[in-house]
Amino acid sequence: FAPWADPDAVPFIRFDDVTKRFGDQAAVADLSLDIYQGEFFCLLGPSGCGKSTLMRMLAGFEAPTRGRVLLDGADLAGVAPNRRPVNMMFQSYALFPHMSVEKNIAYGLRQEGMARDAIAARVADMLKLVQMERFAGRAPDQLSGGQKQRVALARALAKRPRVLLLDEPLGALDRKLREETQFELMDIQIALGTTFIVVTHDQEEAMTMADRIAVMDAGRVVQVATPGEIYEQPASRFVADFVGEINLFEARVSGGGDDSSWELAALSGETRFRVADPDARLGAGDHVAVAVRPEKMRVTREAPGEAFNSLAGEIWDIGYLGDWTVYRIKLDTGQIIRVTRANATRYTENPLAMEERVHVAFAPDTAVILSD
Ligand code: ATP
Repeated sequence: FAPWADPDAVPFIRFDDVTKRFGDQAAVADLSLDIYQGEFFCLLGPSGCGKSTLMRMLAGFEAPTRGRVLLDGADLAGVAPNRRPVNMMFQSYALFPHMSVEKNIAYGLRQEGMARDAIAARVADMLKLVQMERFAGRAPDQLSGGQKQRVALARALAKRPRVLLLDEPLGALDRKLREETQFELMDIQIALGTTFIVVTHDQEEAMTMADRIAVMDAGRVVQVATPGEIYEQPASRFVADFVGEINLFEARVSGGGDDSSWELAALSGETRFRVADPDARLGAGDHVAVAVRPEKMRVTREAPGEAFNSLAGEIWDIGYLGDWTVYRIKLDTGQIIRVTRANATRYTENPLAMEERVHVAFAPDTAVILSD
């Protein structure tokens, strides 16, 4: 499933050069974005970057100041929210407290004037979909947070919208339930084939669930790609830093380029870097950052004996996580980096100790070069 990679695929939702101003502040600025039918799409970004505003324009609660929002090729301008095949599930769930689970799910269908039998059948389908059949008669205040979340989802899906917008859908759940629910949401989305657009500021959640992620910063989309591409080939320092952990080494380009392999000199210390990055477009002397994810670095007691990508320092902090150990290492340059090691063998066998002197190295094709 990768319609975005097909040049002939027609986007289902298109934000065409959209700006939304509140007073003199642009919440969304000159933003263009295509989303395809059946995608599980995540909008990821820090608080205030414009995620909710973008969703509200698609749902019809806000009108763009400039630009167009298209669905199936048709401009949505002037189409009322209840006339759009788009539904929104809010973080607060907004269940009606005086109505049973069943009545909550049926509410929108009644408003639409659907026949009684059809409503009963649809509600039964929805209860089954979210595995809440046993709770049909309960009131919302007799449900746990996770159960409320399922009812809200069932209610939002009952009218069979073509697009479901979920604003921080799992924000109220604890960590374990949150993770379980992520996989359930993915299963439900695949079963229905409905286009899901999830707003989140939780990068792990976006990585887990999304077919593609749009990373937003200050009203703009700064990268749109699959979770793997966002993590392995971040487009900028902002994306690299916002999604996952990364070590940045400030450096100057000293040569190379022909076979997409670059040589660079660290601005601090003597380290020379060699990085194979097919996306880099550089000139000699450019100031850039060599970026390496913590799990891609090797820590050893002996010097690796390689001319490139070798750094020395001492163990500064150790965080044992069971499956992983996180080391913070203070390099001789003073920079503190983060290196993770999978505890594939028993951690207690010959572990690295605090203040131990170590060497850190990485392979040229595990780093990326970031110019901005
Ligand atoms: P969060 O993750 O905190 O919900 P967000 O990325 O969803 O943030 P938005 O809610 O879209 O961000 O807000 C983007 C910017 O627009 C913010 O600076 C916000 O203060 C501003 N804004 C949003 N709605 C309004 C409004 N109705 N009136 C004035 N300013 C607004």
